[in-house]
Amino acid sequence: MGEGDATRFGAEIEKICREHSLPLTSQRRVVLEALSVRPTHPTVDEIWEDVRRTMPDISRTTVYRILETFTRLRVIRKVCHPGTVARYESRTSRHHHLLCLQCGRMEDLDDAALDRLALPGKETGFQIEDYSIQFRGLCSQCVSPSDTGSRKRGSQAIGG
Ligand SMILES: [Zn+2]
Ligand SMILES: [Zn+2]
Repeated sequence: MGEGDATRFGAEIEKICREHSLPLTSQRRVVLEALSVRPTHPTVDEIWEDVRRTMPDISRTTVYRILETFTRLRVIRKVCHPGTVARYESRTSRHHHLLCLQCGRMEDLDDAALDRLALPGKETGFQIEDYSIQFRGLCSQCVSPSDTGSRKRGSQAIGG
């Protein structure tokens, strides 16, 4: 499951580590692979939990440092939202996010129109490198927690 992706990501990591003369230790490899097979924007704790299955002795600090190092190298991306814990993702190409305020679930959103927004001009003196739009609300599971069948029956009872 997701093994092909992990292998491709692994080859990419090896190349980037070589470019930055950064030794690709087994700890770094395992942490990055754990991230690459999770499309769900995991937190440090979630990645740590995965990694400990193969490396029981690895500390949370080590996992955190590895994630921060590769975020700086732009191999992975850190997704931060006010009031929520930082999450990471292996996808670094431009995309946007749907954040559920109830369960904290974060989904990727691809939208060509959002990728082509008119950006603030040079007069701001600010040089924009990248952007990502975050939509906050309720995910499909939190909007209708019960199955649609019982909802229909419920509304019929009220209407009649
Ligand atoms: Zn939700
Ligand atoms: Zn994402």
